[in-house]
Amino acid sequence: MFFDILTLFPEMFKGPFSESIIKRARKNDIIDIKMINIRDFAEDKHNTADDAPYGGGAGMVMKAGPIYRAWENAQNERSQNSKTILMSPQGERLNQKMVNELSREAGLTIICGHYEGIDERIRDSIVDQEISIGDYVLTGGELPAMILVDSISRLINGVLGDADSCKKDSFYNGLLEHPHYTRPRKLRGLKVPDVLLSGNHQKIERWRKKESLKRTFERRKDLLEAKKLSDEEKELLAEIKSELKGEVDE
Ligand code: SAM
Repeated sequence: MFFDILTLFPEMFKGPFSESIIKRARKNDIIDIKMINIRDFAEDKHNTADDAPYGGGAGMVMKAGPIYRAWENAQNERSQNSKTILMSPQGERLNQKMVNELSREAGLTIICGHYEGIDERIRDSIVDQEISIGDYVLTGGELPAMILVDSISRLINGVLGDADSCKKDSFYNGLLEHPHYTRPRKLRGLKVPDVLLSGNHQKIERWRKKESLKRTFERRKDLLEAKKLSDEEKELLAEIKSELKGEVDE
């Protein structure tokens, strides 16, 4: 999968995309990430990419021309079509379902706004989808773009060491994941649950399913309400509720 990121600040991406899992995925040509400097597509001698807003007011607006030319250039350099995403606090709020869907695209062209944002005509003419990473405002679309690329990349085959591990993560199947433990067995008086040391894989699996449901019940009831539970999950949830009720009664 490829990602073309249109930005005024390509240097910002250096750290996150040059470390760890994303670094390896790029090196192994599983994902191809290109940062395109919008300023390179400005047409005046000062490479101006922003200007004062029509109608007055504070802040600067990113000019449509340089973004449009950068976008056109990126599209022409790729043999496959890509969806154009605008990072925006006004967009659809990012969640795992959207990430799963986007991971099936051949490529994405991502536009990062800055300052007051971009000239509205870009949104009207080339943007397929606007995505927000949450109900708060950042200085630019660069951090949101990193989040988007990272969350999608880890779903691409070959990016994670174990391709199935992402399917057990929180949200993938509508629940939060169970807790994890590693060595040592005892730490400052805290023990690893006995079942995880039992070697009984059936029991371990059941414990994990139950913990996952319990966490979701305690922290994110909204997720449970939206999920269609299997018979086993319903049974486990009933058990959890009666155990929690018992704790309250005691
Ligand atoms: N004036 C804009 C508004 O009120 O909607 C906010 C502009 S913000 C300061 C500058 C840029 O940061 C935006 O164009 C967008 O690309 C990015 N941005 C800020 N917050 C974001 C968020 N929550 N999700 C995605 N992108 C965001």
